[in-house]
Amino acid sequence: MSQVSRQVARRSAPPRRRTARRRAATTEAIVERIATAIAEHRLPPGTKLGEEALGEIFGVSRTKARQALHRLATDKLVTLLPHRGAFVAQPTVLEAREVFEARRVLEPAVVARFVDVATPDQIETLLEHHAREQAAIATNDARAAQRLLGWFHVLIAEMAGNRVLADVLRELVMRSSLITLLYQTTADSRRSSEEHRELIAHIEKREVEQAVELATRHLERVEAGLALREPSSEVVDLKSALAAAGAG
Ligand SMILES: [Zn+2]
Repeated sequence: MSQVSRQVARRSAPPRRRTARRRAATTEAIVERIATAIAEHRLPPGTKLGEEALGEIFGVSRTKARQALHRLATDKLVTLLPHRGAFVAQPTVLEAREVFEARRVLEPAVVARFVDVATPDQIETLLEHHAREQAAIATNDARAAQRLLGWFHVLIAEMAGNRVLADVLRELVMRSSLITLLYQTTADSRRSSEEHRELIAHIEKREVEQAVELATRHLERVEAGLALREPSSEVVDLKSALAAAGAG
C-alpha cells in the first residue's frame, strides 16, 4: 500500500468502539493505572485493593476488577490472600535484606569475570542500555526505570558467560526490582544509573579492582537508600490515589 492510500485508509476508518468504551475502563487500562500508582508510591505496600471499590472507581464490574488484580498478581505487584482479598505487594524487610545480601555475594564475582571477557560489542550493548535507563528516568517512567536498572545487572551476568550465575542473578534481580520499585526514591534511581555508567568505564579500561569495588558499593548504597519499613496500618484513600494517575 502506498503512503498516500494508507493515509486515506486511516482517515476514512470508522471510529473504533468509542461509544462502548466511553466510560468503562479496559482491563489493561485498570492494570496500567494501578501499576503506575504503585510505582509512584501513591499506593504504598500493603494497601488493600478491594474489588468493589476498584469497580466503582473505574466504572466496571467486580469480575473485571478481579481480572485486573489477577494480572497484577502475575507481575507480583499485588498479593492475593485467600478470604482476605488483594493487597499491594509488601516484601518484608528481612526478605529485602536477604535478596541484597545474596546479590552482594554473587555480583562481585560476575563483574570480575566480565571485566576479563568483555568485548567492544558487549560494552556498546551496555552503553545503549544505559541510554535507555537515562531516557526512562528523564521521563519519570518509574516502572521502566526500575526494570532497566535491574536488567543492567542481568545483562552483565549474561554476557559474563556463566549461565548458572546468570539464571540465579536474574531471579534475584527480579525480586530486588520489585523491592526497589516499592521502596526506592527517584533521586536514588538517578544515582544508580550514574554508577552504572562509571562501572561501564571501569569495565572498558579493564580495571577489575575498581569495577568490583564499585559493584559492591553500588549494591550497598541501593540497599541503604531503601525506605524499608514494617507494615503500617495507614489507611489509603484508593480513589484519590488512583485519580492522580488518570490523566493518561
Ligand atoms: Zn544497579
